[in-house]
Amino acid sequence: MYVFTKEIDTEKTFIPEEEIWELLEKTKNPDRKKVLEILDKSLNKNRLEPEEVATLLNVEDPELLEEIFHAARTLKERIYGNRIVLFAPLYIGNDCINDCVYCGFRTSNREVYRKTLTFEELRNEVKALVSKGHKRLIVVYGEHPRYSPEFIAETIRIIYETKVGNGEIRRVNVNAAPQTVEGYRIIKEAGIGTFQIFQETYHQPTYKKLHPRGPKSNYAWRLYGLDRAMLAGIDDVGIGALFGLFNWKFEVMGLIYHTIHLEERFGVGPHTISFPRIEPAVGSEISYNPPHKVSDEDFKKLVAIIRLAVPYTGMILTAREPADLRKEVLKMGVSQIDGGSSIGIGSYSQDDPEKVRKSQFILGDNRSLEEVIQDLLKEGYIPSFCTACYRMGRTGEHFMEFAIPGFVKRFCTPNALFTLREYLNDYASEETKKLGYELIQKELERVNNRDLVEKYLERIDSGERDVRF
Ligand code: SAM
Ligand code: SF4
Repeated sequence: MYVFTKEIDTEKTFIPEEEIWELLEKTKNPDRKKVLEILDKSLNKNRLEPEEVATLLNVEDPELLEEIFHAARTLKERIYGNRIVLFAPLYIGNDCINDCVYCGFRTSNREVYRKTLTFEELRNEVKALVSKGHKRLIVVYGEHPRYSPEFIAETIRIIYETKVGNGEIRRVNVNAAPQTVEGYRIIKEAGIGTFQIFQETYHQPTYKKLHPRGPKSNYAWRLYGLDRAMLAGIDDVGIGALFGLFNWKFEVMGLIYHTIHLEERFGVGPHTISFPRIEPAVGSEISYNPPHKVSDEDFKKLVAIIRLAVPYTGMILTAREPADLRKEVLKMGVSQIDGGSSIGIGSYSQDDPEKVRKSQFILGDNRSLEEVIQDLLKEGYIPSFCTACYRMGRTGEHFMEFAIPGFVKRFCTPNALFTLREYLNDYASEETKKLGYELIQKELERVNNRDLVEKYLERIDSGERDVRF
């Protein structure tokens, strides 16, 4: 049964509003030595404390800011190397009983066209995505009784079952409403990867204003949503804030306190952190003119600081952002991006003139998957569709990359090269193939066990799929 809401003590959450303001005040005008010490701590792979994060947030001096960017780039290169994991969002349905003022799907929006994919339409969407070369999806749902845990689980099963030739989806992550523990268990059974919930804003009074109706109006139910996911045995959870709703420094602090809470309660922090900025949404005035609009410069700064603050998490940057900015921000420690995204419901398989009216918001980056891959290759990144850890039962993959010395070289780089080779052989144009093969050749010089990696690449060339370490 679908449970709308359940009360939790909203007075004592793990987001200490007053303490956050105090820390942001106390750490103003930080001195250089202090900042460099903090950067050093992060480069030594330590998660930062709230006061240290507040100190970085207060850096304004351009030279010192450059040190922050430099440290974020170094951390990313040193720990994670040059892989970028690719995925696509798949919107299943936009019925919604909430009224989030910034979202095109909100219940009171009469301008949006409501649509839930039938299972047949879902199969067509998946076929279209698989035919482009996708292996990883994030499925997205409005909040509505019809999107019960059973329905969500069924849609995920259908996605895994839908194959096209050699191609298939190998990891489905979920962005849906917070569930009960029992609800999560049902969804987990379908074999999901990460369950994502964005708190939108960690600032409770603002949250209350922006979520006036429906189950989402309960701040604490959402805040503890991923605790329940973990209690249900979902190991990989993703947190996020929607930037533009409130003071961005406060939101970064909120993400850090959320991380610390998960670490303290479950011994492991979030698998991923997302930092979407508000985009224009049909029928939502506030989305065109967000009350706390974040500039590109501040956006870059906040991405670098999140990278440094929680060195072990994956960081997701979506096509909400324009291509040029994405290229720039990628360097600051992002590990996953979407490619070839289309967020109009049903719009992967059909070109739909009503697309915008079926979309939650308007995308900033409309490059195809192949264009994104070409751009990544030209910049020296390895585009990766790797799902090896998940498929080998190694949950918390990002943590292993971080915690086990040599893990990236031994496992991640070869696995990224294998999935790139599959992509090149099955889906790429001649131009992309050339770029890709050249990159693989260059990377082979650097891998540990070159002979074995080459053998696996040969297996792929002779038609075998899903080979992995
Ligand atoms: N309905 C579920 C929920 O709200 O958690 C899951 C799906 S919701 C469509 C996914 C996320 O989209 C939200 O958590 C929010 O952060 C983001 N979002 C909503 N409106 C947006 C906008 N105008 N621009 C950018 N992101 C937006
Ligand atoms: Fe519904 Fe999610 Fe949009 Fe809010 S953000 S209106 S819950 S789809």
